[in-house]
Amino acid sequence: MVYEKERQTAIAAVTAAAKLCETIRRKKSQPLTKEDTSPVTIADFGAQAIICQALGENFPEDAIIGEEDASILQQSDRQEVFSGLVGLIQDILPHSTPDDILHWIDRGNGKIAPRYWTLDPIDGTKGFIRGDQYAIALALVENGDLKLGILGCPALPLDPTDANSGKGLIFLAVRGEGTQMLSLEDNTSQTAKVNGTNDPQTLRLITSVEAGHSDRNKQEALMTALGMTSPPLRMDSQAKYAAVARGEADLYSRIPPKDRRDKQENIWDHAAGAIVLEEAGGRVTDLDGKPLDFSLGEKLTANRGILASNGIIHDRALEFTHKKN
Ligand code: AMP
Ligand code: MG
Repeated sequence: MVYEKERQTAIAAVTAAAKLCETIRRKKSQPLTKEDTSPVTIADFGAQAIICQALGENFPEDAIIGEEDASILQQSDRQEVFSGLVGLIQDILPHSTPDDILHWIDRGNGKIAPRYWTLDPIDGTKGFIRGDQYAIALALVENGDLKLGILGCPALPLDPTDANSGKGLIFLAVRGEGTQMLSLEDNTSQTAKVNGTNDPQTLRLITSVEAGHSDRNKQEALMTALGMTSPPLRMDSQAKYAAVARGEADLYSRIPPKDRRDKQENIWDHAAGAIVLEEAGGRVTDLDGKPLDFSLGEKLTANRGILASNGIIHDRALEFTHKKN
């Protein structure tokens, strides 16, 4: 199988990171605040350390572009928080030292290269803190093309129609080979497929929980343009891509709000989700129908917003979002 070592390494690392995140979530530790005022938790750093350690050991030549860096953990008033994290990581990697852990986190400070990984150790930190959805998002990019993506969704119900069906899924996509859903509960695997329907009565939009992350008025107008009648689903993080990939929703749009029309998206916020959805039969572009360009840097500077769909309704949605919206 192609990318077999990458696939095995990524599954093992994301599974370990998912378990760590859920352990930390149960402890309800206080979040920290980053310079840009966004929240971050020790789970963000722990997940990045575990995944970068595994990638570094197996693919020492590869660049990793991750969301977090270790500087905040080295501040004098954070020593207690950092010690707590060291203990939790030593439960997984017994011989790791504090310096090892800082070094692994900072492996994520790589730059764009012909082959690189991009990692959001916890996408949707606000959802993680609130007790809702979040995703561990890792993707491999070669010459600007997405080759492999893995989304760990530790809080996603196994059956979208049954909240008591158990939870925790990993979505794994390899270019040309489809998307698999692996249960974190019992290791069973199923193929993910988008919803094939075009019926406005059943089509569903999925969008952020946080009201400020997308223009809600424009999103409502888009729903009206498509004749959608069901209320939108709200979900944090790239778990939205996973929801479209398994047919739980049909359209994920990210339309920059009025006061930040020029907002550029981060590569780690879309790389894994995009290939997971494409390989499940969906389509991902920006609001103007352009493919997402992962070759330029940390930001998707050539793109405006995001439009991700079950494929069938994509062109009709683009008619609305292109240019005027
Ligand atoms: P969401 O997909 O909206 O549930 O939230 C997760 C993503 O929102 C994170 O990856 C952040 O990078 C992004 N984010 C954080 N603040 C903002 C903002 N003010 N506008 C748009 N996106 C944001
Ligand atoms: Mg993110």
